[in-house]
Amino acid sequence: MSEFTETLSFGSKSIHYHLSFQDRKTLGIRVYPDSTVRVIAPLDTSVEKLRAKLREKAPWIIKQQLDFLSYYPLTPPRKYVSGETHLYLGRQYKLKIVDSNQNEVTLYRGRLVVKKKSNTSIKTILNEWYRERATIQFAESLKKVLPLFKKYGLEKPELQIRNMPTRWGSCTTKGKVILNPELIKAHKGSIEYVIIHELCHLVYHNHTRAFYNLQERIMPDCKKWKERLENTLN
Ligand SMILES: [Zn+2]
Repeated sequence: MSEFTETLSFGSKSIHYHLSFQDRKTLGIRVYPDSTVRVIAPLDTSVEKLRAKLREKAPWIIKQQLDFLSYYPLTPPRKYVSGETHLYLGRQYKLKIVDSNQNEVTLYRGRLVVKKKSNTSIKTILNEWYRERATIQFAESLKKVLPLFKKYGLEKPELQIRNMPTRWGSCTTKGKVILNPELIKAHKGSIEYVIIHELCHLVYHNHTRAFYNLQERIMPDCKKWKERLENTLN
């Protein structure tokens, strides 16, 4: 089956989608957890008709994509100077920069202390530290929530940390869970929420009612942590 990759502009948004044709009567549109959009059209569909139909469905497609844990960083760009606040596990810390003969980051009395050698960028040191903390914390959070899925027979998934410009988390059909390192700035409850959301996708690969029911069964206060996540970091 041949497949085309197309783009539809809708307001300020662009929707990329994979299009294929099949012997069928109606247009099928599916949005996947990684934001991929697949459109299957009846063989005799004209381009005009297809585009009109997609335009009509665009708000729904965008909503589906947003429901997949979107991440829109709106925090102002950081300057990496002493006194500036930076987040870690849902709390604000004031940055304190100290010249040193080694690079090191520590949390001390509500401050995020960055010791740095001359000629090293604070941003680089800090981002490396965030990533290290993310690796440790995400593994710990996964270990904590995984037993909640015992009766669904989930194997411990592989965790990957990857910068994603628009997503908090995602998962692959092969069962790998991918998390945005920025998530380390969120409260532990929100980190668990994102992991639980992705683990639920290993049971249901979509956003159906069954998916949301499972998510709420596993984490009854998931709405609270979702909102916290959106309010703290956006
Ligand atoms: Zn999802």
